[in-house]
Amino acid sequence: MSETIFSKIIKREIPADIIYEDEFCLAFNDINPQAPVHFLVIPKKSIATINDIEEQDRELVGHLYIAAAKIAKEKGFADDGYRVVMNCNESAGQTVFHIHLHVLAGKPLGWPPY
Ligand code: 5GP
Repeated sequence: MSETIFSKIIKREIPADIIYEDEFCLAFNDINPQAPVHFLVIPKKSIATINDIEEQDRELVGHLYIAAAKIAKEKGFADDGYRVVMNCNESAGQTVFHIHLHVLAGKPLGWPPY
C-alpha cells in the first residue's frame, strides 16, 4: 500500500489540526474546508478506496461513523444536522487514496451535491 499524505499525518510527519484520536482512527480539520465545519475521519489502517474495504474491516468502518457522530455531539452540531461523505475514485472526486469520511456542517447543505 503506497504512502499518502494521510499516512504522514498519522505518523506526525506533517502537521494537521487533529481534533480526535483513538486506537483505530484520527480526525482532523480539512485543509480546504467546504463548509464552516469540515473535518475528515480516517482509519489508522491504510485502505485506498471503498473498493478495497474487506470483510475484516467491517468493524473498523463502522467505527469511523461512530467517531464522526461522537465528535458531532461533542462539538454541538449533531442535532442541527451534518453530512458524512466518502468519495470513491476519481470521478467521485477522491484525491487522497486512503479512505476518509468527510464531515460537513455549520450551514444548510444543498442536495444533490453537484
Ligand atoms: P477527497 O477529495 O479524496 O475525497 O478528499 C481529500 C480531502 O483531503 C480534501 O478535502 C482535501 O482538502 C484534504 N486534504 C488534502 N491534503 C491535506 C492535508 O495535507 N491536510 C489536510 N488537513 N487536509 C488535506
